[in-house]
Amino acid sequence: KLYNQVQDLKGSIRVYCRVRPFLPGQKSVMTTVDHIEDSTISIANPSKLGRKSFTFNKVFGPSASQEEVFGDTQPLIRSVLDGYNVCIFAYGQTGSGKTFTMMGPNELTEESLGVNYRALSDLFHLSSVRKETFSYSISVQMLEIYNEQVRDLLATNGQTSRLEIRNSSQDGINVPEATLVPVSTTSDVIHLMNIGQKNRAVSATAMNDRSSRSHSCLTVHVQGKDLTSGATLRGSMHLVDLAGSERVDKSEVTGDRLKEAQHINKSLSALGDVIASLSQKNNHIPYRNSKLTQLLQDALGGQAKTLMFVHISPEQEALGETLSTLKFAERVA
Ligand code: ADP
Ligand code: MG
Repeated sequence: KLYNQVQDLKGSIRVYCRVRPFLPGQKSVMTTVDHIEDSTISIANPSKLGRKSFTFNKVFGPSASQEEVFGDTQPLIRSVLDGYNVCIFAYGQTGSGKTFTMMGPNELTEESLGVNYRALSDLFHLSSVRKETFSYSISVQMLEIYNEQVRDLLATNGQTSRLEIRNSSQDGINVPEATLVPVSTTSDVIHLMNIGQKNRAVSATAMNDRSSRSHSCLTVHVQGKDLTSGATLRGSMHLVDLAGSERVDKSEVTGDRLKEAQHINKSLSALGDVIASLSQKNNHIPYRNSKLTQLLQDALGGQAKTLMFVHISPEQEALGETLSTLKFAERVA
């Protein structure tokens, strides 16, 4: 029995690596990716004349479709309707494809829809399949964490920033002031995501692409009622597009930019520490070290299921970031 529990726990964190294709016009650029096979990626390191391999649950090469990438995520959606908490992260340096994986490209087509849309559309579909036995209500929040402050991306009342994360015995971890919107169709959700993206973009023009320096989190709350027994259950799914993981050169940035970089650094390492201590089954899990890990505490560890997509850019000049991304991923896998 104990063996099974340990297996379950270990199996609750999955790490997938995705390699971005070269962008149009980049055809003859050198790549660092030497070889990809199922779950292993090897990176060529010309300065050291060597190769280094990393193994994850799966590696998606540059030609993998959005549908393939979403494939293994589907079972998680079912577990949200069974009352589990699920967290899906996109990690990687700016430009490596995090937003592409979660949302899709700027011009969306049916095939290019990202994980967010697919996950919600599965959620609606599966809940309607169960409607004879279960009645579900689904609502979403969209938050941004910037410089260790929580902002509401769906606010219409101007109350957007410095929201408190609370922990109550009834609701668990929650952000009571954040706008919570009931949804029942994918088009409701697409509409909300557009509002959220716009709210992020407003600050982006003012502060020079802030979206790559903040974490955005789409949280889906699911409440289900068993129509025969009357019992209720609650599940949640957090879809997180993390801030760019690139290190900034401390000698080159100062002031606000340095402060941002330090906050990002701190929260990404706090996330790495939490996931690594969960997979090592440590007794103490350091959730308190960042707003990100506080916000996601209920959905990391315990019965919760975590999935991380780590992204790498294929170019030679990204080698340093690619290796540090893969090392981060190896630590949490
Ligand atoms: P990030 O969010 O990590 O900064 P983006 O998702 O914005 O990176 O991706 C950077 C650019 O690369 C965008 O123009 C995006 O459309 C493109 N891109 C990323 N991943 C892919 C992919 N798998 N296939 C095609 N284009 C991609
Ligand atoms: Mg992005």
